[in-house]
Amino acid sequence: MIFGLCPVPSRELHNAEGRKKSKREAKDTLDMPDKRSSVSQNFIKNIIEEDLRANKNEGRVHTRFPPEPNGYLHIGHAKSICLNFGLAQEYNGLCNLRFDDTNPTKEEEEFVESIKEDIRWLGFDWEEREYYASDYFDQLYDWAIRLIKDGKAYVDHLSAEQIREYRGTLTDPGRESPYRNRTVKENLDLFGRMKAGEFPDGACVLRAKIDMASPNLNMRDPVMYRVLHATHHRTGDKWRIYPTYDFAHGQSDSIEGITHSICTLEFEDHRPLYDWFIDQLGIHHPQQIEFARLNLSYTVLSKRKLLALVEEGHVDGWDDPRMPTLSGLRRRGYTPEAVRDFCERIGVAKRESLVDISLLEHCLREDLNRRAPRVMGILRPLRVVITNYPEGRVEELDALNNPENPEMGTRKVPFSRYLYIERDDFMEDPPKKFYRLAPGREVRLRYAYFIRCVDVVKDHKSGEIIELHCTYDPETRGGWAPDGRKVKSTLHWVSEGQAIRAEVRLYDHLFLRPDSDEEKDGLDFKAHLNPDSLEVLVSCPLEPSLAGASPGSHYQFERLGYFYVDTKDSSPDRPVFNRTATLRDTWAKIRSRGSR
Ligand code: ATP
Ligand code: MG
Repeated sequence: MIFGLCPVPSRELHNAEGRKKSKREAKDTLDMPDKRSSVSQNFIKNIIEEDLRANKNEGRVHTRFPPEPNGYLHIGHAKSICLNFGLAQEYNGLCNLRFDDTNPTKEEEEFVESIKEDIRWLGFDWEEREYYASDYFDQLYDWAIRLIKDGKAYVDHLSAEQIREYRGTLTDPGRESPYRNRTVKENLDLFGRMKAGEFPDGACVLRAKIDMASPNLNMRDPVMYRVLHATHHRTGDKWRIYPTYDFAHGQSDSIEGITHSICTLEFEDHRPLYDWFIDQLGIHHPQQIEFARLNLSYTVLSKRKLLALVEEGHVDGWDDPRMPTLSGLRRRGYTPEAVRDFCERIGVAKRESLVDISLLEHCLREDLNRRAPRVMGILRPLRVVITNYPEGRVEELDALNNPENPEMGTRKVPFSRYLYIERDDFMEDPPKKFYRLAPGREVRLRYAYFIRCVDVVKDHKSGEIIELHCTYDPETRGGWAPDGRKVKSTLHWVSEGQAIRAEVRLYDHLFLRPDSDEEKDGLDFKAHLNPDSLEVLVSCPLEPSLAGASPGSHYQFERLGYFYVDTKDSSPDRPVFNRTATLRDTWAKIRSRGSR
């Protein structure tokens, strides 16, 4: 909100405020890609609709969201969740949750639980269909045996490094391993011994026997199983060999009867391999469809990088409100509605792009503007003494809880001789376009009175302004002058004696550069971390209606932004407020410049 800076006469501004804002927002919505049409033009839907017309898969639509439980979900995963669950909903189908837990060394139970919590929070339900790739280890083993028996897989003793070397490059064909033409009998024996734990880690692998000269590197005898003496979070110590993601993923989809396996573009080159396994085994064949992953400006969307930020202490855990994780966004005050709206607006495409983080913030503002009650609080207080207001008197003034939604009612705010305003709402020597408080000037205190600054009190030594002396006009109660006199700005304020004190945390982008996810100039991605991404204000005076504000509630602090009562660090007598977003909608500006 900009009424403090706006040269429009204040009464008009005040009266028109609700209408004006919603007009502006209506325009915003018109300028945005229309939600329905962008989704119906989504190429994945075209494929599905084609399949339905052809009665492929007996008209079933069955998708899945397949996270690897090696980190917390981020906003990129939300795109995939909304897509997979959304398509199932739209076509009367089903969506499974499957944990791709083939790598026992990186996976933890904590991640499984957090992933489930995040999907539920987003508003999706996998009902009883919670699966694990590890549930299929026996089946996958049997299929590996079948491929060995068919002469399509062999045990190789080359080291990982040699395998890489023998694989060749995009321009050079690969070389065959000297172990490639072992007999079926020998392979069965060795693979059985791998399973029995007779070999140390890395001593041998099971590889598919496909084509070392294939132009697709994934088809050059990829590894199917590796020896790993590790305890798995679900199968314990049962297995000494683990299937690779490439051998497990497509078959897991097949076992679950998935019709459309939707994944990100980096798996496009793996598709021929998944198809090969499925065709060799003669099992149900899901159709894999790739789409471009979400990249978001000023942040990183890779679990590996996010894990590094957590482990190296650059942030305060996976749910640090600066993190692009769903738990971080939630703790910051994002709503599931805003995240879903964002995912719908970005749509799906085949081409990688960088989405501006201000679009995500825009979706949040649209949602919170409707529902967050407005209150007044001061971040950087400047004391004001109303010299003609009686000492000891406190009066209660009526304030609207949301001028755009009268149903949200009113509340009382106390007014007294001693108040706080925002330090930067006063300038002793204001430049031309500064319309807020200055010596001799009159402004409105929101819902209260007109006040005029009559004196500036400074610290003798430092010269710092410590207090303003103002007079108020008792005739202007409620913020209107009976003589029609206008003021150029309206300030928020808090009465000193009744204020509660709270910690307020202000956030900025986690990274300084929009393309922080790209490793450029040989610099580590952490070189671009924003050192000022968090500012903690320890004792901000807030209006007393905020006493006992419950953790998890949203507010709009007038003129300052949307705030969320922290769910972790707040206590009943000491709430902590996280700023979710400021009120400045940079997305609207970016779009009107036409740079989207
Ligand atoms: P990361 O690169 O962050 O480690 P990942 O792809 O390894 O992610 P998975 O747990 O394998 O993470 O992802 C589960 C699903 O989410 C996959 O289908 C993946 O394609 C999808 N996904 C992951 N990141 C994004 C993203 N940025 N945008 C859209 N979908 C994503
Ligand atoms: Mg992955």
